[in-house]
Formats: sequence, structure tokens, C-alpha cells
Amino acid sequence: MAIEQPEMTLKAIGFVKNQVTQPMPGGWKEIVSEIEIDHRLTEALDGLEGFSHVLVLFWMHRASGKPALKVHPKGKSELPLVGLFATRSPRRPNPLGETPVRLLARRGNILKVKGLDAINGTPVIDIKPYIPRDDAVAGAGVPPWVAQCGKDRRLEAIYRRLLKAYGPQHWWPAESPFEVMVGAILTQSAAWGNVEKAIVGLKEAGALTPEALRRQPLDELARLIRPCGYYNAKALKLKALAQWLGDFCGDDIDRLSAVDTETLRRELLSVHGVGEETADSILLYAVGKPVFVVDAYTRRIVSRLGLAPEGVSYAACQALFKDYLPQDSGLFNEYHALLVSLAKDVCRPRPRCSGCCLADKCPSRLSD
Ligand code: SF4
Repeated sequence: MAIEQPEMTLKAIGFVKNQVTQPMPGGWKEIVSEIEIDHRLTEALDGLEGFSHVLVLFWMHRASGKPALKVHPKGKSELPLVGLFATRSPRRPNPLGETPVRLLARRGNILKVKGLDAINGTPVIDIKPYIPRDDAVAGAGVPPWVAQCGKDRRLEAIYRRLLKAYGPQHWWPAESPFEVMVGAILTQSAAWGNVEKAIVGLKEAGALTPEALRRQPLDELARLIRPCGYYNAKALKLKALAQWLGDFCGDDIDRLSAVDTETLRRELLSVHGVGEETADSILLYAVGKPVFVVDAYTRRIVSRLGLAPEGVSYAACQALFKDYLPQDSGLFNEYHALLVSLAKDVCRPRPRCSGCCLADKCPSRLSD
């Protein structure tokens, strides 16, 4: 059955103005452009300035070459040949581009934006607000070649900088995998110094084994871990964890490494008091699974660095590291620890950007 082709007419609502006259393979993130919208549509822009980012749809009028059904992503022959619609190649039947960009300012019918990958004179088809809740998809999957195509090597570059600035962090500071698990619960809403005091108390009482924790009376356990706060609630959580370990692996933590990561994560999340961050800390630091731990520090830093929108979900933030870094537990271990160091040192709620090793890569840096 022949599909009836509807007639479609697109009209530019405006044009891009910038210094870029030729298509380029990368380096668009820092490009500042103006989009001059047809003055008859000026009123339609009212309210857009309330958004930090907008989606720009544009017509890649200089895209050349016949559309091919299969292409190598980014034109790189080392990447697999895949269907055109599985890529962002500009050589497509309708050369439409769509890019989320930072909205720097609106002046009447002029939008000043940063990060638009369109050359001077590009016709703009539409503008929409970027709404993280609707536009950022948590846990979106991509084929492995996406990580290889070099679009985003920033995470690797940031890691190298952090390692040079702070050196190896030797995490997790514990004498056994079980101590890591206990520490992962105790550190919830607590400073690490207080967690250490609670762990010393447990050690001195001979209560730092799953079996001993199960035997310990609840009120006595709460007294032992008092320095780390929320001690009644945390005592219950420790007992639940110890019970789960006995039931699931007979207290033999070594056996956990043979369980596939997704299953083990689900199991841990079913334990009372174990949320995503605690489960992932246990998976990475106690069991050695290549899982990236996301905490409030990580989210603050990735959004300030422009790697993810503010308020990014746990899953989306974790996917960023999963997609663009080798799946290596040693790397994930060190990276997370380094981010914590950066957050405590300079990337605080009120950042001290002048002393930051990432300042020249950070769109949110504050000048002195
Ligand atoms: S430059 Fe400032 S905002 Fe950016 S990562 Fe460094 S401390 Fe944080």
C-alpha cells in the first residue's frame, strides 16, 4: 500500500548569526551565537528568558552529499557501519538539526545562546524550552560505539586533572568488606569523622561481624553507634543488613562477587535502609563491582561543569559515567573519591573557583 505523502512547508522563523562560516567537527560548546527571530514573532518569545536552556531546531542548509542509508558515525571508519537514522549525520533526507543550548540572554527578538552547532546564516525552524523533567531521560541506553566516538572525552580529562591535583585517595578507608558495608550505612547524613568513632565503638565491643550484629541487643547497638547520629534508625538498618547477609550468602561476602551486578543491586535495594547511593557504595567498595557511586557532591559538580542539567536524577548522572568511561571498578573508585575531595576543597555550596583545577573547563566558574 502506497503511503500518501503529505505536503509540508517549513518556513524559517529566524537565522543564526555567529563567526563560524564553515561546518566543523567539534568545539561548539564554547561558541556564542545570536538567533535573530522574525520580528513579527517577537511576542512569541515572552517567558522564554525564564529558562536556562532552549532546544533549537534548525535546517542544515550547507549539508552536502547524497544521503546514504548506512554511514560510519562521525565519518570515522573505525566505528561500525550503521543505519543513517541511528546516527546524527547531517547527510539525511531532511537535514534537520536539534540542539539543546544555554540561553544567555534575550533582547527583543534576539536570543543570545551558547553551544549551538550551527554556522552563520543557518535557518532556524523552531525554538522550544528545555525542561529537564521531560527532556532528560533517566537511564537512557546507547550502543557501545557512542562511547568510542569521542564526542565527549571531558570526563576522562577531568579525571586526569583531579588525580594530578589531589593524588590517589585510597578509598574506602576500612579494614574489611563488612566494615565498608557498615560504614556505608553509618555515613548516611553523617560526617565521616563521626562514622569512624562509631566504627571504633563497634570494634571495641567485638560487634563488627554480621553474626555479632545480629546478636547485639538493639538498644546496645544504638548506644555503640551514637556518635554518627540517627543511631536508633541506623541500628535497625545495620541489623537488617546483617540479617540479609546471613540469609543471602551465609555471611560469606566473597560469594557476592559471583552474583551479577543487576541482581545484587536489586537485592541490596530490598534491604531496609539501603538506598541507591548506599547500595552502589557497597557494590563498588565492598564487592568490587564496576558501579559509579553518585552522591550530592557528584551531582553538584557535573551540573556546574555543564555535563548534566541541574537537578539531574541519580540514574541519569550515573549513566553519564557509565557511558563515557571504561567499566573499571578501580577507576570508578578513584573518580568518586576525587570528586568528593573537589567538593570539600573548592566546589562547595559557595564555590571557591579561583583555586579550582577545573576552572578553565567550567562554565559556572565564578570570577574573583
Ligand atoms: S570552577 Fe568553581 S563551580 Fe566550577 S567545578 Fe571548580 S569550584 Fe566548582
